[in-house]
Amino acid sequence: MDEVLKILDDYIFTPFLYPASWPTDYWLRQLLSLLIIVYTGATTLYFVTASLCYAFLFDKRLMNHPKFLKNQIRTEIKCSLMSMPLMNIPTAAMFFLHHRGYGKTYDGVSSSVWLGYMSLPVEFVLVVAFTDMMIYWIHRAFHHKLLYSAIHKPHHAFKVPSPFASHAFHPVDGFMQSFPYHLFPFIFPLNKYLYLIFFVLVNFWTVSIHDGDCKIPDLLKPFINGSAHHTDHHLYYNYNYGQFFTLWDRLAGSYRNPSTFEEKGPLHHVIKKNKVDSCQEYSEAKSVHPSGWAKSLKRNDALRLTTS
Ligand SMILES: [Zn+2]
Ligand SMILES: [Zn+2]
Repeated sequence: MDEVLKILDDYIFTPFLYPASWPTDYWLRQLLSLLIIVYTGATTLYFVTASLCYAFLFDKRLMNHPKFLKNQIRTEIKCSLMSMPLMNIPTAAMFFLHHRGYGKTYDGVSSSVWLGYMSLPVEFVLVVAFTDMMIYWIHRAFHHKLLYSAIHKPHHAFKVPSPFASHAFHPVDGFMQSFPYHLFPFIFPLNKYLYLIFFVLVNFWTVSIHDGDCKIPDLLKPFINGSAHHTDHHLYYNYNYGQFFTLWDRLAGSYRNPSTFEEKGPLHHVIKKNKVDSCQEYSEAKSVHPSGWAKSLKRNDALRLTTS
């Protein structure tokens, strides 16, 4: 984030935004700049990633599921846009503290860094393990009756989520689910670029587990918490709280084999229902109005094609 701030300071903030009396190391200027960067970056990432997932991965037939709300996508986007400016304030504050040197972030990679050239791979593994564990317990805590209604319920309004639900959180919920990424470099050393890369990656991952595309290589299915797991979390609440892996759900007894893996997921429900409706209309048309049978036959054939 330091590099991003420096580039924007040189080319945009200093010449066009701030008065000359505000030096680049003025704390208020840094805080405001980071807020602008986080808000612009997170909003852009949200729209680009969610739109691409919606266009290329999200199966639109899910929108025919009985639990897919009327105007749901508009509601998901509205909730995200209302929430993101507020959740970006503490996020920018976290980047600000690290930028001012209160954490353990560091520049570059060399033999002098804490684990030498092994620092990056070790930090990568540690960040994933640390955040996976913390997000599991934070998410699970938000399902406690004292917190659920006040904080986490808005995200569960979407029983069959689309990629646009990925950031549709109460602001406290949204920030707390990313808080472990900011906490980590207060405890352990972390390369500054890795810190920024993780901030971007977690946004991608959050969208990906809401994309309804439940295809995971068979080999990884027992380990990765993908959209099949998270879709069941939205549907059944008390299962699959995890972020990247199924580890903590398995250890803490909240793992549920995704219904999609057993061909009982929301998309299977839609396909099955369409087939039943199609067959009913087919037989009704045949018995009640023989002359309309041919038309109905064509329509049902078209329906079958769209649901197979
Ligand atoms: Zn939840
Ligand atoms: Zn979700």
